[in-house]
Amino acid sequence: MTSTPRHRVRLGWEDRNLGERPDLAPASDGSGGATFTGHCPRCSGAFSASYALAVPGEATKGLFSRKPRDKSPLDVMCECGVNHAGRPDTESKVGCGAWWTVPQP
Ligand SMILES: [Zn+2]
Ligand SMILES: [Zn+2]
Repeated sequence: MTSTPRHRVRLGWEDRNLGERPDLAPASDGSGGATFTGHCPRCSGAFSASYALAVPGEATKGLFSRKPRDKSPLDVMCECGVNHAGRPDTESKVGCGAWWTVPQP
C-alpha cells in the first residue's frame, strides 16, 4: 500500500508555518549534516535537501567553531522545485512556501 501523493503544482505560494513535524525529521548523513528526503506536507512535492549542523570540536571552519553543537530544532522549508504561483522573487527556495520545524537527528 504505497500511494505516492500527487504534487499539487497549482497551489499558490504561501508563507505557511506548519509547526512541529517530527515525523518529517531529516536523517543524519554521518558527516555533521542532515538530509531530508520526502514530500512536502502542504503541496506534496517530493524533494531532498541537506542541512549543515554545528559540530563540536571543529575549530577549523570558523562558522561553528565557538558554538557547541546545539540541539535547537531545524527549520525545513519546501524546496519542491516548482515555482508555485505568487512566489516572491526574494524567496531563495523554490517551493510552495510551507515550512516546518523538526528535531535535529
Ligand atoms: Zn510544498
Ligand atoms: Zn510544490
